[in-house]
Amino acid sequence: MVKAVVGANWGDEGKGKITDMLAENADIIVRFQGGANAGHTIVNDYGRFALHTLPSGVFYNHTTSIIGNGVALDIPKLFNEIQEVIKGGVPKPKILISDRAQIVMPYHILFDEYEEERLGKASFGSTKSGIAPFYSDKYAKIGFQVSELFDEDILEDKVSRICEKKNVMLEHLYRKPLLKPKEILDTLHEYRDMVAPYVADVSSFLDKALKENKTILLEGQLGTLKDPDHGIYPMVTSSSTLAAYGAIGAGIPPYEIKQVITVCKAYSSAVGAGAFVSEIFGDEADELRKRGGDKGEFGATTGRPRRVGWFDCVASKYGCRMQGATDVAFTVLDVLGYLDEIPVCVGYEIDGEVTTEFPVTAKLEKAKPVLKTLPGWKSDIRGIKEYDKLPENCRKYIEFVEEQIGFPIKMVSNGPGRDEIIYR
Ligand code: GDP
Repeated sequence: MVKAVVGANWGDEGKGKITDMLAENADIIVRFQGGANAGHTIVNDYGRFALHTLPSGVFYNHTTSIIGNGVALDIPKLFNEIQEVIKGGVPKPKILISDRAQIVMPYHILFDEYEEERLGKASFGSTKSGIAPFYSDKYAKIGFQVSELFDEDILEDKVSRICEKKNVMLEHLYRKPLLKPKEILDTLHEYRDMVAPYVADVSSFLDKALKENKTILLEGQLGTLKDPDHGIYPMVTSSSTLAAYGAIGAGIPPYEIKQVITVCKAYSSAVGAGAFVSEIFGDEADELRKRGGDKGEFGATTGRPRRVGWFDCVASKYGCRMQGATDVAFTVLDVLGYLDEIPVCVGYEIDGEVTTEFPVTAKLEKAKPVLKTLPGWKSDIRGIKEYDKLPENCRKYIEFVEEQIGFPIKMVSNGPGRDEIIYR
């Protein structure tokens, strides 16, 4: 049985918490896309952890954590993270790395920095983790696959070809120091020795696991609106954030994904540039930002303040539809308990017309939010375990959102902890 845990919004919906929670009853957790650019924050019995590359299932003894072929594998970052987790008292996790995963090279990170610097004000707000240059190289067929680390002839030949190409850009476009083939080869050898104990034929491993009726979780990074095809292009990430891609990025048949748990946050937050229709500003935004998440809305990777706004029914309905949501997990609802009234974005006004269908980016830039205001519940809902015990206005908020998005809210998260969850 395969379940995907994915985001309906711009990321930071709380997928890490939901995955950590569901991992208790899972055997295998797979990261299938993205890299160390976004982070999941997890609060559990061992403490508070910011994971970037490791799946959020590493905290259990019984699980296997997998880095799938679709991931942008930053080897030094992965190793630091493993050390951090062990230092935090967590038992040494069982980790497998796909022999088909590709490697983020130090020059990908440099190119990311140089490009953002070159773009100046027009920059994408990249986390400068090398993700866009990495995926560009993957599709330009000049990436390094983990399997290639073990073939010296391939490595040497590829390194010299890559340096030739990259150095033209470094010299003429960026005017930065050139790459030295010997240094790159040394790095690759170091990486080979680091990953060697973990490398596996992941799709065979998962095939066997499926035959043995194991439970597999696919953990997505970011959310629908950051998908390169279906998101707010070009202000998107470079790998697909959709559950459908989970089949490819892990190496399993698409029909095995039986449940798509789509995590949707009770208000909006986003990092980086791009249209954000229900965004709020000033004191109102500062207040929500300060109270958001478990320690305020600040990026887990960069510490940057996140942009915040009211819940967006248009974006979330689309976000759930593109994921193919079977279950919506509605998260971080406790944070809204301070508000007298809670505005919700129920439509977009574009060129004088109101729509509830999420538009392409050029139209999105022109959209103005149509807001409906719901009464707040003015109380702390943390600690409540049953749906019926939630304040009436809180239930009304959930039910209103559910009707607007058209997908069933089956879980409500009312705190960052593993057990702070209400099933419906
Ligand atoms: P992810 O990338 O989707 O895993 O999300 P992040 O980890 O970046 O952001 C979610 C933040 O909200 C983290 O700081 C979590 O600890 C926190 N969080 C998750 N669920 C809840 C919740 O129900 N209530 C509160 N207050 N915080 C939550």
